[in-house]
Amino acid sequence: MTIPGAQTTAATARHIPDGVPSSLQHYIGGEFVDSVGGATFDVLDPVSNTTYATAAAGQREDVDRAVAAAREAFTNGPWPRMKPRERARVLNRIADAVEAQEARLAELETFDTGLPITQAKGQALRAAENFRFFADLIVAQFDDAMKVPGSQINYVNRKPIGVAGLITPWNTPFMLESWKLAPALATGNTVVLKPAEFTPLSASLWAQIFKDAGLPDGVFNLVNGLGEEAGDALVKHPDVPLISFTGETTTGQTIFRNAAAHLKGLSMELGGKSPCIVFADADLDAAIDSALFGVFSLNGERCTAGSRILVERPVYEEFCQKYAARARTIVVGDPHDPKTEVGALVHPEHYAKVASYVEIGKTEGRLLAGGGRPEHLPEGNYIAPTVFADVSPDARIFQEEIFGPVVAITPFDTDAEALELANNTRYGLAAYVWTSDLTRAHTFSQDVEAGMVWLNSHNVRDLRTPFGGVKASGLGHEGGYRSIDFYTDQQAVHITLGAVHTPQFGRIDDS
Ligand code: NAD
Repeated sequence: MTIPGAQTTAATARHIPDGVPSSLQHYIGGEFVDSVGGATFDVLDPVSNTTYATAAAGQREDVDRAVAAAREAFTNGPWPRMKPRERARVLNRIADAVEAQEARLAELETFDTGLPITQAKGQALRAAENFRFFADLIVAQFDDAMKVPGSQINYVNRKPIGVAGLITPWNTPFMLESWKLAPALATGNTVVLKPAEFTPLSASLWAQIFKDAGLPDGVFNLVNGLGEEAGDALVKHPDVPLISFTGETTTGQTIFRNAAAHLKGLSMELGGKSPCIVFADADLDAAIDSALFGVFSLNGERCTAGSRILVERPVYEEFCQKYAARARTIVVGDPHDPKTEVGALVHPEHYAKVASYVEIGKTEGRLLAGGGRPEHLPEGNYIAPTVFADVSPDARIFQEEIFGPVVAITPFDTDAEALELANNTRYGLAAYVWTSDLTRAHTFSQDVEAGMVWLNSHNVRDLRTPFGGVKASGLGHEGGYRSIDFYTDQQAVHITLGAVHTPQFGRIDDS
């Protein structure tokens, strides 16, 4: 199909970066190993959709081995017993190593995921920042102590919990893994990571980085494999007391059910269908820039994508026309080309899903840009940035997460209607609000059902702030102290000062 006006770079021959292995193994107890039964699965690159490697397909026995190694390191190893400052030194060395390998990490991530190389570069640096952030936090953090004058001292012991199961998605995999690895390790837990099967390449880099930085063997373990096998076994393992999961809402629901048997601690970062609300008094050009970035950066494979744009009627048509004109100039092409702004979607299965939503959209909205595969890219998982206007709230492309470069635009007439439309999905991850009216900006933020709101800005986040969604977008938050809370048990210790208080029956003393 020809996409009118779509800018493209030419399709290029398959590019395999130096050092990409042809087989990917598990990493258990400090060693790279195959699956016990020898099972493997194929890993495709998103440009040629051909197999570039086979990966060990973890089964229950492999998960058992990894959990046993992590459990041993937790029970008898030095890591949970180290002083925070000692652990922080290791975390800072990890950050140094990630920074030093930034270019290589970006290249591998681009190769494995199809993300444009210029956008993959920021991911590695953000991962390093995450490790530094949690290194600083555990050193600065001291346990809360409360004195009741003349009678008691109370303090809170924060203790690592044990083996943390970390299950991660295929979008920006290395960076998102760091969100879980950094706080889980900083707080003294040991971990088993199960990365997404579409993009296992960068996860195995952690193993060498951690070893070189001095992380003791067994503290970090990696099991590759399919979600229904390796992921499922990790969730159901009785020696894994907490699961941190990022992925689809339906997968989160399955994990929730499976974790219930052991009452595991759960943190869930799930899907989204976030609204970007543009009022007529907004700086329209800035809103258009931000709304383009919000849905088309990272190939639209972004959990916080502003994939529903709600625009106040007086500026609606102007917004639609300018937005679509700009979308048509976005450069789609080879992810390794620095000019590329939208690369290849991660996998042919995901491509088929996104392409099917594009066809559904043609029956549900007015197509203003894109609408399928750019004509100069006959192979690979390419979809031109696609813009639909006049989308009604009951449309599937308004309600369902597409997770690709596809956006739905809908008009509104009043603030109340904007709020109703914004809240009219099962999701509640992010919201973007564009207005020059400060009072409206803040009142709207309070009423919108979203875990995160960006006012006249886009997706920039300080690491101290909580990241997470409400409704079907998640459970709990990651980031800052919320991560420290999730990865630690908080034990309250109470000491009576002076004479030991003799309790009396019939009197409850809670001071
Ligand atoms: P997914 O749910 O298909 O897979 C995520 C991970 O879960 C993978 O490692 C997979 O192997 C594993 N898994 C699958 N079934 C499992 C099971 N039964 N038991 C245990 N593990 C299982 O998600 P995906 O397609 O990899 O990622 C895209 C989704 O992730 C989108 O919905 C996106 O919005 C969401 N996401 C959310 C955030 C956030 O912070 N809220 C961030 C990134 C991605």
